Amino acid sequence: MSSVVPLDPQVNPGFLKLDLYCRGLRLHESCTVEDDGGRPVLRARAGLGSGLELVLDPGLYVNVPAVEAFAQESPYELRRTPDGRYDLYRDGEPCTRVRLSPRPDWYDALTSTGKPMRRIGTLQGTYLGVYPAGVCHFWVQSERRLARENCRFCSVGLNLGVDEEHGKSVDEVLEVVHAARRESGITYVDFNTGHYDGSEFLEVLEPYVRRVKEETGLLVGVQTPPFAHEPDYARLRALGVNRVSFCFEVFDPEVFRALCPGKARVYGLQGYLQAVSTCTALAPRKRFTLDPWVVNGELIAGLEAPESSIAAIDWLTERGAIPTVCVFRPLAGTQLEDRAPPATADMVPVFAALWDRCMEHRLPIGVAPNILVSLVMLPEECRWLVQDENVLRRHRAQSRRLAAMRAIFRPAFRAGLRLRRRPTRAS
Ligand code: SF4
Repeated sequence: MSSVVPLDPQVNPGFLKLDLYCRGLRLHESCTVEDDGGRPVLRARAGLGSGLELVLDPGLYVNVPAVEAFAQESPYELRRTPDGRYDLYRDGEPCTRVRLSPRPDWYDALTSTGKPMRRIGTLQGTYLGVYPAGVCHFWVQSERRLARENCRFCSVGLNLGVDEEHGKSVDEVLEVVHAARRESGITYVDFNTGHYDGSEFLEVLEPYVRRVKEETGLLVGVQTPPFAHEPDYARLRALGVNRVSFCFEVFDPEVFRALCPGKARVYGLQGYLQAVSTCTALAPRKRFTLDPWVVNGELIAGLEAPESSIAAIDWLTERGAIPTVCVFRPLAGTQLEDRAPPATADMVPVFAALWDRCMEHRLPIGVAPNILVSLVMLPEECRWLVQDENVLRRHRAQSRRLAAMRAIFRPAFRAGLRLRRRPTRAS
């Protein structure tokens, strides 16, 4: 019997998630998302998320475009039933039932400094995302930068002061981390930095990472531009960071220069690729460990030809890095707001290749507990998009290996968290 799941949004949640990224949805007037406990539509600082957070059975988190112009043309419409549940319709016909991602109580709580906690960090799926420092300098005009050099798809500079605080102290961030751990059961905190002229990124990140690791033992990741000094990557690893991620977004050098002018001038595509190579070389020899070190290369599919995205996936996985791939979203207010999002059919081979290559290179996908990401297709979710039985058959042994790793890692990690108690701090 075939284990291929047809690309039908009624039966294939992976395909539905991808289709929702590409087409968005319309909100029927019956929807009362926030009154029903859903999360508000926030422009997350990653510059990619501006949508409605939903959960698809059997547990795929998705941030669905809902406010951009293209979403108003979507075949998908969300409707509320009289008893407060939510159904997704496609072309006017029932498609599937969905759930609102629950809005945690701490979203409405204040830090001890009086700031709303949701403006310090936000849940992106089931993990906490924090953008700790000021606005990325590629957005800032100055004597040294007469014209902005921001990435053309990015909305970070549009969000500050709207959905986000300008500065976030370590203590404020830790208050939110503890609240999110206590009330939302997070296992992972992700720190995201933009570019800062003349800054050492390790210095920006270190105080936050150190405190989170010391006080919680949670998994911690950082998204950062390449460091100026290679030895700093080993210091990052020594701090206990579990994931380091480099956002080069596109693999085509010309597209990179055109869409990421600041990154191209300061680091160059090669700078990002070198950073990935350096960090994968720091991975422990044995693949299985309770203290993981994962290297990601971040891509935006739909900004370049699908073949180029697949070439990037090949390049990364051959070196032991896991691609993190999101779908281009023409965010309102950005320089690419008038571009069309990619067609779902063009994206299916990209994401099917993502699963295939991760399995081929025996990368540890889907092992960590409770990291369900709403802004990207997780590599393990891309198995739903594989339409070739031979590919699925070829990776059965690796699927069993990953299941065994999950069965060991998850309870061991949770037991480690339970053994910790929050220390009392004078500050
Ligand atoms: S580096 Fe580019 S994508 Fe990242 S925050 Fe700055 S402008 Fe946005």
